[in-house]
Amino acid sequence: MAGLILREDVDLVRERAQIEQVIGAQVALSNAGIGSLKGLCPFHEEKSASFYVRPGIGRYHCFGCGEGGDVINYLQKTAGLSFTDAIEHLAALTGVQLRYEQGGANRESERSNQSMRQRALAANQAAQHYFESQLVTAQAGPGRRFLSERAFDREAAKLFGIGFAPPGWDNLTRHLMGKGYTAAELTAAGLVTQGSRGVYDRFRGRLTWPIRDTTSQVIGFGARELPEFVEGDKKQGKYLNTPETVLYKKSQVLFGLDLAKDAIRTQKQVVVVEGYTDVMAMWLAGIQTAVATCGTAFSAEHAKVIRRLMGDHVPGSGLQLSDGASLGGEIIFTFDGDAAGQKAAVKAFGQDHQFYAQTFVANEQSGMDPCELRLAKGSAAVKALVANREPLFAFVIRAKLAQFDLGSVEGRIGALRAAAPIVAQIRDTAFQGGYVRELAGWIGLDVEQVRHEVSRAARAGTRSNSMVSARADTRSNPTVAARAPNGNSNPILRLEKTLLAAVLQYPELIPVQFDQLSADIFSAPAFGAVFHAIKAAGGVQAGAIQGARGWVATVAELGGTDLADLIGSLAVTNLPEDRPEQLAQYCVELVAELQAQVIAQHLLNAKSRLQRTDPSHPSHSAALAAVVELEAARRTITGR
Ligand code: ZN
Repeated sequence: MAGLILREDVDLVRERAQIEQVIGAQVALSNAGIGSLKGLCPFHEEKSASFYVRPGIGRYHCFGCGEGGDVINYLQKTAGLSFTDAIEHLAALTGVQLRYEQGGANRESERSNQSMRQRALAANQAAQHYFESQLVTAQAGPGRRFLSERAFDREAAKLFGIGFAPPGWDNLTRHLMGKGYTAAELTAAGLVTQGSRGVYDRFRGRLTWPIRDTTSQVIGFGARELPEFVEGDKKQGKYLNTPETVLYKKSQVLFGLDLAKDAIRTQKQVVVVEGYTDVMAMWLAGIQTAVATCGTAFSAEHAKVIRRLMGDHVPGSGLQLSDGASLGGEIIFTFDGDAAGQKAAVKAFGQDHQFYAQTFVANEQSGMDPCELRLAKGSAAVKALVANREPLFAFVIRAKLAQFDLGSVEGRIGALRAAAPIVAQIRDTAFQGGYVRELAGWIGLDVEQVRHEVSRAARAGTRSNSMVSARADTRSNPTVAARAPNGNSNPILRLEKTLLAAVLQYPELIPVQFDQLSADIFSAPAFGAVFHAIKAAGGVQAGAIQGARGWVATVAELGGTDLADLIGSLAVTNLPEDRPEQLAQYCVELVAELQAQVIAQHLLNAKSRLQRTDPSHPSHSAALAAVVELEAARRTITGR
């Protein structure tokens, strides 16, 4: 049973963790006003950013789908970690030494404190060390030969962490058990296979490539067989990967992503190749955006990982057929020029309509993969392969056209009918218009005739495509949502919400009178409840001393689950005032405005009472005095 981490250590981790770095490793974040960053939401599909991060507050919130929280909760949700695992992960990143409530510094209890996930990570790391150390042994000769035959030197092998799993059934198992790992832990790590007489090494007589996540932790391996060590009776296939584990999800993992992620983010380009050696060849040729799927086809899940990194926005305009670089981000597939490669390209085309406008194919006519190409023709040829990429649309259409004899009228009509439905699927009209002209040129037909056929195909395909267009983002404009957080036009509610947002984000700028307000000043009960939570956390005075980050965490905690979403969105929403030098004044005015509104309300009631009071009645003078007093108070606050 895992011990509880001491509360003060949890707070320290929360305090030190850089939320913008943790989220930024997965989501491309750009500036969104003072102290605010935004990007594409990792929790829902969207084309324009409604996901906001406030590093100063240590929180994120999506105004599209409502997901929100702090850095710990982000890791829990996106990486599937438990609270303890998330804290342990962040502690490692921030250098916080965690202490556990159970105490006891002996090895047994320390081990029990580490969750299975941590142990699986550690086991994979230890296995990585072991495999790497084995690559220099005499036995690994065939492995080293494999690499040198493909022009990968020692440095390249080191960069990609290539290792050698020696033949035999229990080399790694014995090594790791000697380091204290149990069979259960090694199974959880995907390093061993359960046999009838215990566990045995999964990878034997193979070259190994570590597969790392975006935080550079080893989560699994890809391993290639070496002919010298192929076991006669049990053929396992040329490539063998880690099975699905707590760490390794094959529909999401991409080999090379740890090295490529920065270049992918900055260059807004990713090159998807088929093998580990292709990633290496690309890298050595100067293309540092290459990744490979691991024993599976490129999936929508992979696309999601990539789009998040690129902060992919599909622009409504600016598309140019001849120059894909004008797009937000490019995904380039390298497929063989052969039929199977074309089939794969067409499949990728059908798979992710969200992505297709920026999808390209780098097609090597000779059928060589990038590794072979580099070997045969050098790095320049690999670079040229990527540079000569072609839009996936064009590739798919031309593959269709190749099936027809364009020299005959029948062939041209057949080609048009086959290609028109593809062009009809292009949702961007400017893009589609360009392809109508291109197609007319390729087939040798009149543009109008092609346009007519495409419209016909579009109508015919409307029903079958409606699922696709239904995915279009129908949510409200995120900028508007962020600026008018309540999303409604009631000025009083808007003021209350904006003030509470300012209080949570900048407690140090809020006049201390705020703490003296009463909760019923807020017209919406939910805002009154947030005010209670703020007061319970010591009010803005405590916030100013403690700093917004830790204080907001306390407010959120005291608010309970019912208020969590509201407090979360308030803490992250952008204020209408976006000039830093004006913020302090703005906060003062917000409080004054709310007070003025309350007084105006009281004044209205007092005047009404005064009107209803008989001037001869003794209570009349008191009613009049109340009005005068409130008028004076209003003037003091508003200055008019
Ligand atoms: Zn979202």
